[in-house]
Amino acid sequence: MIGFYNLASQHEAVADELTAAFHRVMGRGQFVLGEELAAFETEFADFCGTKFCVGVGNGFDALTLGLKAAGISPGDEVIVPANTFVATWLSVSACGGTPVPVEPDPVTYNISPEKLASAITPRTRAIVPVHLYGKIADMAPVSDIAEQHGLLVIEDAAQSHGACSGDVRSGAFGLAAAFSFYPGKNLGALGDGGAVTTADKDVYERLLRLRNYGSVEKYQHEVAGVNSRLDELQAAFLRIKLRHLDVWNGQRRAQARRYLEQLSGCEHLQLPDSRHIDEDAWHLFVVRSRARDQLMSWLNGHGVQTMVHYPKAPPWQPAYSQQFPSAAQRFPVTARIQDEVLSLPIGPHLALNDIDEVCDLILRAI
Ligand SMILES: *Cc1c(COP(=O)(O)O)cnc(C)c1O
Repeated sequence: MIGFYNLASQHEAVADELTAAFHRVMGRGQFVLGEELAAFETEFADFCGTKFCVGVGNGFDALTLGLKAAGISPGDEVIVPANTFVATWLSVSACGGTPVPVEPDPVTYNISPEKLASAITPRTRAIVPVHLYGKIADMAPVSDIAEQHGLLVIEDAAQSHGACSGDVRSGAFGLAAAFSFYPGKNLGALGDGGAVTTADKDVYERLLRLRNYGSVEKYQHEVAGVNSRLDELQAAFLRIKLRHLDVWNGQRRAQARRYLEQLSGCEHLQLPDSRHIDEDAWHLFVVRSRARDQLMSWLNGHGVQTMVHYPKAPPWQPAYSQQFPSAAQRFPVTARIQDEVLSLPIGPHLALNDIDEVCDLILRAI
């Protein structure tokens, strides 16, 4: 049985450290906004190569508060990828803004810079590129277009902890970047968690208020904030796991390389873009096939768990579908992607011979 996730086995390597952290935090008796969070925030900002980090309750809050701290307000239009997890869109809606979708590049699956410009209107305030599947979006042209039109760039980095392009890491491209520490992400907590990174001191200070009832001084509430804080236990666990992240991402890269080698002759399969194997975080290894559903059930029948990211993109979700009645015509690239993508197992819970086994099964099926 080759599982898609196995967090229990991944945690074996750090179980003693996690247990010690649990006892340390419990013994100290401070569980919210304490020294573990402060230390994690410094360490994670360093890891991303930026100045500040603010720990929040989850990735959705990281996006929403990041957008609010950047100044997104009701009536603003925010450009988002058509092909992403729905949280990217929902965070714009949560600010009272309107998500304006742009189709992906058919090779990278990330937002297409060529199609960006035509989505810009006088109400556009920001672009939220998503580093989907762990691959950095095409940031040079995205940033150029943003600069030309005076738009903000807020990264959705929920799938790209440790990914880079050149010497810039995800979390250091935009005015702010939102991370999720949902357990299945490359850096996952033992529960929900998230963070915003930024190099901008004003954005940082606004975030400190927004996540804590609009307050940095007790019983003094400057803005209508929320309660969304990364707690001490999760921060302590994340500090430990962060020290292993580069090694774990290295294992993912080796596995991606193995898949690409073994499956390269497979005509019926579109493999992921392999131009930046050693820069991608390989959160997911996504192949495409016209016979996706058959391939999926064949693998399932042979004990290999696979998933689809995502079977229904946001324009097809009831939450948004009224605005996009003819989504298939308007978003043909996304429509094809969602019908054909299949995520194969990848991650530090697997060994290279597991990857070989999956490849053998795929080659036999085809
Ligand atoms: C996981 C994810 C989120 C949301 O993170 P949560 O911690 O689950 O709220 C947002 N965007 C993308 C692209 C994600 O993959």
